[in-house]
Amino acid sequence: MTNTLTVGKGHDSGTLMGRKVLVTGGSRGIGAATALRLARAGADVAVTYVNGKDGAEDVVRAIEALGRRGVALRADSGDPDEAAGAVVLAAEALGGLDVLVNNAGVGVLGPLEGLAPADVERVLAVNVRGVFLASQAAAARMGPGGRIITIGSCMVQRVPGPGGTLYAMSKSALVGLTKALARELGARGITANIVHPGPIDTDMNPADGEYAAGNSALTALGRYGVVDEVASVVAHLVGATYVTGAEFTVDGGFTA
Ligand code: NDP
Repeated sequence: MTNTLTVGKGHDSGTLMGRKVLVTGGSRGIGAATALRLARAGADVAVTYVNGKDGAEDVVRAIEALGRRGVALRADSGDPDEAAGAVVLAAEALGGLDVLVNNAGVGVLGPLEGLAPADVERVLAVNVRGVFLASQAAAARMGPGGRIITIGSCMVQRVPGPGGTLYAMSKSALVGLTKALARELGARGITANIVHPGPIDTDMNPADGEYAAGNSALTALGRYGVVDEVASVVAHLVGATYVTGAEFTVDGGFTA
């Protein structure tokens, strides 16, 4: 299939050729698919990971096989210095930064009474503070045409059952952040948008896992999504020039 995003020159014509991208949490799952999708469209891509060194190195090799620059950085988004520091290192390694994809996230689900303060701190540190700090550091380095794309969740729009308090709370904060970033950065020609995946087959939410049948049944399409179905929407947003402060639901109708 021809990828129309590779056609033309310069970000305004939709090409991603030579654009410099950081994808947080890019060693597997949605982040790895996004990194590869953007590299196929011509971008140079850095990815972060925490434990998945081998996975991140595989992603870098695949990016390099496409003729693009790939960089793997170990950086825990839950650590404030590392969350911002990864942006600095990525910009240094790639020679600038045009696009930040805030993908790294943790899903801690469970009954309200069982969630400890440490769970609250960890989830907010990775899913919210890390996104804020990375976005702040990225915005400081971006010029016109810059893109901040954040991965939220369909649970912002529909919590299908008990156990989602902490995760839904954390992802909901990212909607406000995205809209506020759009207002803050619009005058500089930088856009900010958020993508809400539904059930996507990854380690976090396997399509053969305990909750899979129920999740599939809640979608209009009756199935899990695959990672590239999210990555393709992220790639579209990198090329889009008049879209900011917007939410994109990629959930097979989970929230319909
Ligand atoms: P996975 O658990 O499959 O992959 C998570 C990725 O993020 C890995 O690369 C992991 O690295 C990295 N990561 C985890 N914690 C950190 C951290 N503290 N700092 C840096 N990197 C980290 O998740 P998915 O691909 O499923 O999810 C990606 C995003 O999509 C998340 O924000 C998630 O909340 C969201 N999402 C997912 C849905 C789904 O159904 N899968 C649905 C809705 C939203 P490592 O390999 O080193 O552990």
